[in-house]
Amino acid sequence: MSQSDDNLLKKVIAHAKEYGYVFPSSEIYDGLSATYDYGQYGVELKNHLKQYWWQAMVQLHENIVGIDAAIFMHPTTWKASGHVDAFIDPLIDNKDSGKRYRADQLVEEYVAKIENKITKEELKAAKRFGEDFDLDQFRSTNPRVLQYQTKIDSINQRLKEAMEQGALNDLKTLIEELGIADPVSGSRNWTDVRQFNLMFSTELGSLAEESNKIYLRPETAQGIFVNFLNVQKSGRMRIPFGIAQIGKAFRNEIIARQFIFRMREFEQMEMQFFVKPGEELNWYQEWKEKRMKWHQALGLGADNYRFHDHLNLAHYANAACDIEFKFPMGFKELEGIHSRTDFDLKAHEQHSGKKLQFFDPAENKNYVPYVVETSIGLDRLFLALLSKSYTEETLEDGSQRVVLQLPASLAPVKVAILPLVNKDGLSEKAQVLFDQLKFHFLCQFDAKDAIGRRYRRQDAIGTPYCITVDHQTLEDNTVTLRHRDTMRQERVSTESLTSVLQEKCSLQKLLQQL
Ligand code: ATP
Repeated sequence: MSQSDDNLLKKVIAHAKEYGYVFPSSEIYDGLSATYDYGQYGVELKNHLKQYWWQAMVQLHENIVGIDAAIFMHPTTWKASGHVDAFIDPLIDNKDSGKRYRADQLVEEYVAKIENKITKEELKAAKRFGEDFDLDQFRSTNPRVLQYQTKIDSINQRLKEAMEQGALNDLKTLIEELGIADPVSGSRNWTDVRQFNLMFSTELGSLAEESNKIYLRPETAQGIFVNFLNVQKSGRMRIPFGIAQIGKAFRNEIIARQFIFRMREFEQMEMQFFVKPGEELNWYQEWKEKRMKWHQALGLGADNYRFHDHLNLAHYANAACDIEFKFPMGFKELEGIHSRTDFDLKAHEQHSGKKLQFFDPAENKNYVPYVVETSIGLDRLFLALLSKSYTEETLEDGSQRVVLQLPASLAPVKVAILPLVNKDGLSEKAQVLFDQLKFHFLCQFDAKDAIGRRYRRQDAIGTPYCITVDHQTLEDNTVTLRHRDTMRQERVSTESLTSVLQEKCSLQKLLQQL
């Protein structure tokens, strides 16, 4: 992370706290690590993001419906899904610093350092050869680069084997052989590697003997799979069709950091699309394109997104990729798109003894559908939006302002109503306008401080429009409408305000781009 980006993340975190977007959880008790609360504006932004996703999925597709399943599920669910046995990370402690790490990530970071060396060699060569530089040729012939690449391939192969076989000793040997040191203390004094299941468990029932170990769901998807038949039958759904869900998920992440990027309690927006076996890869392509379009409609810049195809597929997937976003910490996963075959439904059939099949009238036969899923973290989406919207500007008069350039349709407060001065009946007039607009938008009324300071406050929380009521308003029923990003001001009649603002702030505008 470059210094400036590191600073950006710090600034976003500070701004989010100061302006009521995100607070550290239970802060008066010094907080709880990697747990955050959304404040008065944060909750509005989050709700708008959910709406945007929900409407794009459920309202714009007549073959997608939504559900809201419980967080607690029958414990066998997690046996069937593979989470009890395989939702594990290898952890390792440094004996000197007492710091805990994910063993596989320590190796991956080591590999990333070698990759950086290759990039440096490439940049040097590109400079030296100028326009004649042929990157592919350089990579395939330069002895130093080849040496680095061989080393990377060999480490990756050993890591993959150790992970697939759960060979924890091999993982430790790899860390020792590579001489990987604790990034904090520099010490190489490591404990053995241990497996750690990421699911939180608790007990159901008030009496100990009746109690049963249950889990807080680590993903929302299983609530969809177990309801596949309920929804299909009650909704008379025909393949292909989708089920969408928004809800909390819980993972006991070994290292949770980078603000709301990796938390132990977070929110997912997932959609499982059930298709005819054999057609899944076409649907996978289609959902890749659709989801990218959905992201880009937010206007955060096409260059900030990229696909990352998974080369090592999970055993149940036959294609998978991430949509990565350029966070202040660099390109990281924002959403996953996976072609999961019939793994989940079949596993639930086996464990429950119930058939989870679709009768296809065209084929006159039953089959277990294949599934293409799209899975996005709401909190990561929130961070993406906040970090790209945060802007510091120096104005013509040399003064500074911080603006959250959120899309108007997603901004928490759509309009602030500001009497120019708090006398001469201007506040009363402004109050009438507030009472007119509050039925359509979340509005704020602010009569305190000089008008310039009030504008700055609204800029900082990302309010796209400010309405100023002045003496002329009393004469001709017009107000000043100030645009947040350009600071342009125009005169608008009070009767047309609702429709003007509706046109500018409605979610429809975003949805129509899809
Ligand atoms: P990562 O590799 O970053 O741990 P993942 O591949 O385990 O993520 P998935 O299981 O595919 O993630 O979950 C789908 C989405 O849920 C991710 O794309 C991400 O946006 C979100 N997500 C996953 N884990 C967390 C977390 N700990 N905190 C916040 N969001 C998360």
